[in-house]
Amino acid sequence: MTMISDNLVQVHAHIAAACQQAGREPGSVKLLAVSKTFGADAVQQAFDAGQRAFGENYAQEGVEKILLLRHLPMEWHMIGPVQSNKTRLVAENFAWVHSVERLKTAQRLSAQRPAHLPPLQVCLQVNIDDGPNKSGVAPQDLAALAAAVAKLPRLCLRGLMVIPEPTPDLIANNLCFLSAYRLFSSMKSKHASVDCFSLGMSADLEPAIQNGSTMVRIGTAIFGNRDKH
Ligand SMILES: *Cc1c(COP(=O)(O)O)cnc(C)c1O
Repeated sequence: MTMISDNLVQVHAHIAAACQQAGREPGSVKLLAVSKTFGADAVQQAFDAGQRAFGENYAQEGVEKILLLRHLPMEWHMIGPVQSNKTRLVAENFAWVHSVERLKTAQRLSAQRPAHLPPLQVCLQVNIDDGPNKSGVAPQDLAALAAAVAKLPRLCLRGLMVIPEPTPDLIANNLCFLSAYRLFSSMKSKHASVDCFSLGMSADLEPAIQNGSTMVRIGTAIFGNRDKH
């Protein structure tokens, strides 16, 4: 077995254990493998080990891999900030976007989504803890954005993405996860298409699953440490 396939086995075991502890079905949390900074060869190894959904932060870097691997049935998710000049690249190449934070971006994505592809699956990113370097719509503006995005013809509103600020304060951390879950529940109650709560990375997978995450975005624990760049 390669290292990546070993890591995937461990991550799946970790997810299953966290689900069990939270009293949730093991299949209720989907694994998104975040392959940013890693090459198509690493993605291919994960694919060979059974992984199908991959996340990328940078549109251009993602599209290079998507094109190299387009013969394989993979599902590609854009999870990084979407700049206006990258909406077309995203709309034409990805299946999902987790990081929509303003209506203008959503409108461009909808207008640019090619007719031969299914609607683009969209999560709205919420800035849950007012983190300094973080994107996302303010919690109080989420409902209005969701209502507007849900009306766009070539998008399907699927849910919420949250990236909590890492903090050693467990209580603050839990409150933050809990308020994110409340936002997700409220959105779900208003929109039948909403079923995705994208929360949890390598370091906070457990509290994320404890607090209702339905999709964890895991990079380091699968592919190893990234070179900072
Ligand atoms: C890089 C990244 C991840 C994965 O983080 P790891 O700590 O490597 O698991 C998840 N979500 C987003 C938005 C990211 O940018």
